[in-house]
Amino acid sequence: MTPELIADRSCGACNVCCVALTIDDPALQKVQGYRCPNTTRTHGCAIYDTRPETCRTFFCGWRQLKWVRETLRPDTSGVLFRLHNEISSETGEKRAGIIVTLLTGAALKAEGLAESVAAAVAAGVPVYLHVPGPPGHTSGMVRLNAALGDAVHFRDKAALLDVLRRLRAQGRAGDSAPIVLARRGAVRPDR
Ligand code: SF4
Ligand code: SF4
Repeated sequence: MTPELIADRSCGACNVCCVALTIDDPALQKVQGYRCPNTTRTHGCAIYDTRPETCRTFFCGWRQLKWVRETLRPDTSGVLFRLHNEISSETGEKRAGIIVTLLTGAALKAEGLAESVAAAVAAGVPVYLHVPGPPGHTSGMVRLNAALGDAVHFRDKAALLDVLRRLRAQGRAGDSAPIVLARRGAVRPDR
């Protein structure tokens, strides 16, 4: 099912999701940090009409969520929002949340980043920071709601960004290992 999309936002020349994400679909296996071999020079998809189901059904948070600011298109901001189902370890209940990936250090300066993250935390949406490992390697993820509670409560943008900066640095300093895909095992990162 195609999710409801924001009318005046389109992917245009962005193809961040074709590079930044790991895809483990029966028709396509690729690891994060490497461009899908089906991307074209103009950032389109060479197999658009027959692209895998995973690609057909994926839209980032910027395409779907009004509270993700207009300024945060992934290719220009370096920020990738994704929808995510948080599953309670106690009840097994699913809850809609969001994953925020800062693709570069410069993404911390993206206009609207702090405001968008604060809006989600203030609304009680589970928010995770995703810190990609080196290309082809596993990533780190940390829940932000408690860590950002004071900054959001006191509307302290500098403090919020400082928490994101610190957690991103911690994540980048952490361990990572080559990604092993369920359908294919270890994938050579250049493929
Ligand atoms: S990251 Fe979002 S805006 Fe960019 S190509 Fe993917 S769905 Fe489109
Ligand atoms: S198959 Fe097309 S839509 Fe899917 S990741 Fe590759 S380039 Fe992007």
